Amino acid sequence: MTTIGILGAGQLGRMLALAGYPRGMRFRFFDPDSDAPAGLLADHWAYQYSETSAFEQFASGLDLITYEFENIPADTARDLERLVPVYPPPIALEKAQDRFVEKSYFCEIGIPTPRFTMDLENGPISTVRFPAVLKTRRLGYDGKGQLVVHSETELRSVLKNETIDKLILEEYVSFDRELSLIGVRNRAGEIRFYPLIENHHHEGILQRSLVKGNISPELQKLAEDYGNKILSALDYVGVLTVEFFEKDGYLLANEMAPRVHNSGHWTIEGAVTSQFENHLRAVCGLPLGSTDPLGVCAMVNLIGSLPEIRSILKIEGAHLHVYDKSPRPKRKIGHVTLVERDMESLMRKLDLVKEIVDVSG
Ligand code: AMP
Repeated sequence: MTTIGILGAGQLGRMLALAGYPRGMRFRFFDPDSDAPAGLLADHWAYQYSETSAFEQFASGLDLITYEFENIPADTARDLERLVPVYPPPIALEKAQDRFVEKSYFCEIGIPTPRFTMDLENGPISTVRFPAVLKTRRLGYDGKGQLVVHSETELRSVLKNETIDKLILEEYVSFDRELSLIGVRNRAGEIRFYPLIENHHHEGILQRSLVKGNISPELQKLAEDYGNKILSALDYVGVLTVEFFEKDGYLLANEMAPRVHNSGHWTIEGAVTSQFENHLRAVCGLPLGSTDPLGVCAMVNLIGSLPEIRSILKIEGAHLHVYDKSPRPKRKIGHVTLVERDMESLMRKLDLVKEIVDVSG
């Protein structure tokens, strides 16, 4: 019996445990929030991530530690590594936690990104054209900590009240599509990728993910080449997600997440092996499962409030997931997945879901 410690006990942790129990795995969660939704499923250690002594007890008896949240202090992950194996490797946390480090790393290993700069002192900005997006380097997620600026003058006026060294300015990309690539690498170095996922955001928050079978083999290969570069360069173990902007057939990497990802929730019912099971297989040193899709798929996030459950369940084939989180504006509290044989029925059922779900969040 393998006992896995998971840092973070949100819905991703919950879905990891739900994938692991049927495979005979056991879990223990660490999350400062005593109400965290995975807490119902296993022992939950509700301490701050800075409480080193709590970690020592948490790690005792565990076979390995993984995480479902990328803002775990990288030093904490390194300290834990002395007690028990930690996957994905803490270097992935370091690269993903700071947008400047992350984008510089993409460039270093040959992955194109939107143009960016950290050089926001008084002089004119020469490397980035306007409009541009000003983002916090750390702790921004779901579009939080972002502002579109249209000119140098507007930028200067915004910067008057900001700590410049905590910010990054990126060129605004008028992309054709937003796509994410979910890849997984196990301890033996075996790698697999799911098909590219098309994502639709509203105010920076993921609303819908679609796997429609409309990705050209060339685009899939390009994304996988980039994915392979990151997975190999970091000697990565586990699931990794890379978010891209597609523009004229090219891909620009926006960010990566060293964990299972919201845009991969469709894999629970829509792929031969879910991202959650494959992450667990990878970190436990087991062979990976097939990433083939079982049909055309759509995943709709339930944000801010829950729709009437009965009306969702009336839609034939709709898979409802509720995370046991209290409703709050802009908070992801569940999702619905559809897996269909053809696009026509997928779109018809997606329309039915959209009639019921408040997509403004
Ligand atoms: P992020 O927090 O970087 O994932 O950004 C959240 C969302 O904001 C993205 O999914 C995009 O929809 C949008 N966004 C972020 N950066 C850019 C950019 N450079 N150009 C255009 N849209 C962006």
